[in-house]
Amino acid sequence: MTFRVLFACVASLAIALIPGTSRGDGPFPPHKIADNAYYVGSQDLATYLVTTPEGHILINSGFEETVPLIRDAVQTLGFKPTDVKFILASHAHSDHVAGHARLKELTGAQVLVMEGDEGVIRKGGEGQYLYTDQRWLPCPVDRVLKDREKVTLGGVTLTAHRTAGHTPGCTTWTWRTSDRGRPLDVVVIGSPNVNPGYQLVGNTVYPAIASDYAATFRRLKSLPCDIFLGAHGDYYKLPAKHARLKSVDENPFIDPQGYADYVAFKEKAFRDELARQGGTVSEPAVRHSFFIAGPTFTGIIGEEGEELWNAGQPAARDGYVLPNGNVLIAWGDEVRELTREKEVVFRYRKSEGNAELGTVQRLANGNTLITELGARPRLLEVTPKGELAVDCPLLPETDNAHMQTRMARRLPNGNYLAPHLLAFKVKEYTPQGKVVQEFATDLPELGGRPAENWPFTAIRLKNGHTLVNLTHGNKTVEFDPQGKVVWKVGNDDFPEVKPFADPCGGQRLPNGNTVIASYGTQGPIKVFEVNREKQIVWKYTGPHRAHEIQVLTTNGEPIEGEPLK
Ligand SMILES: [Zn+2]
Repeated sequence: MTFRVLFACVASLAIALIPGTSRGDGPFPPHKIADNAYYVGSQDLATYLVTTPEGHILINSGFEETVPLIRDAVQTLGFKPTDVKFILASHAHSDHVAGHARLKELTGAQVLVMEGDEGVIRKGGEGQYLYTDQRWLPCPVDRVLKDREKVTLGGVTLTAHRTAGHTPGCTTWTWRTSDRGRPLDVVVIGSPNVNPGYQLVGNTVYPAIASDYAATFRRLKSLPCDIFLGAHGDYYKLPAKHARLKSVDENPFIDPQGYADYVAFKEKAFRDELARQGGTVSEPAVRHSFFIAGPTFTGIIGEEGEELWNAGQPAARDGYVLPNGNVLIAWGDEVRELTREKEVVFRYRKSEGNAELGTVQRLANGNTLITELGARPRLLEVTPKGELAVDCPLLPETDNAHMQTRMARRLPNGNYLAPHLLAFKVKEYTPQGKVVQEFATDLPELGGRPAENWPFTAIRLKNGHTLVNLTHGNKTVEFDPQGKVVWKVGNDDFPEVKPFADPCGGQRLPNGNTVIASYGTQGPIKVFEVNREKQIVWKYTGPHRAHEIQVLTTNGEPIEGEPLK
């Protein structure tokens, strides 16, 4: 009894000490976020329940007195607290982990903590930076996690991203869920906040604090995010989104733009505070490893420009490095999926009567999207057994086979987007071949027909815009859903370097930058990356030109999620 009273005092002291936690621990309606994700926290102290057929996972316990609310919320949603197998955390501050010991006792679950925060949880608050006097119930830690370590249960895999600075083991959790059949990437931000009193310069207790924050923002910007969540509900405007849950048809928690805006806003706050304290952090120069389908080389280039893997046959048109490490490649007459040992595990040969193959893409349903050019231009979905699941006629408005189409892609809505070079149009087709939308690339503001803006890519971005490389027209253009130009970049933006020479393949990176393959170049720059402000931030000047590319890593970190290329 004495201990509980004492703890309550410590807890209220903690509330007073940590900004942003002076409220927010009252009950809040538990609710479903997506297929395997639920909110079971209090008003502002977020706790998430991830459900699987083999037990469940909880992220965050709140304060000790939050635990009964969490228990009731889990039960209200129809789940059993004793089915919880893992307890995870956003970071080791009292408002997220002081309830860990009680929650572990209640559920019997294992406690998993990112390295850097495990000591504070084991010792009930001792060892924190700044909040040195706070204590709560110590909790055993069953497993200490490393950056990018995966936690798997019942077919669901969560990734622990060390996003430190706020605490040394601050963790951002990501996993894949779905809603109404649509696959969705979830991000639960650990905390990007620089609290009042945080010393970013000359911090002897936490010397790496500033560079940890900088690395955190790089990581957060690299994560694909559809569903934006965080350690506190106010990160993602929980009350407003929860209110919309009842009134709207779409899922209000799907908010990739809100995520990007929030991360940008918090990064600015960090950089402003760092500048105010007179500090700087050095950013590493950008390095990429990437796949090339090009005239002299088909394979993977490493971050130092070295050849990491060679398919052994140049002149590929399109290709993907698949999540399992295999490489799917379209040559003019054949598509092959190769293991890194070059064993062929999938093959499709061009049909009789057509002239060449254009694009290839492995789809979420396991089929392979392929385009055939020639007398019967068409888009195919080929099953793993080689059967045609879709045979969609294309309308390229030309008999010139080579100029009929290039990088066609399937859209999340099940339709296809195909660029038609000589039609000066990108067309969206239903699987039955009906054109439901067109974008014109010969708009007056782009120079009209004389500019020869032949569309080569048609990349549907997460915000609904479409990114189109205009080969021959030497520019890259982003169209809004109505076909209006919202962003463009071309040689006029780089009058001295003129890096655009038949831009063919391209990719939009998770940080918003665009990578462009300059297929026709006779200069040194074969592939380059531009940011939103139209600065070149990376270039490949090695020996190989590229028809299509896929950026695989940035400074050692993999590009997560479905590549937008
Ligand atoms: Zn905190």
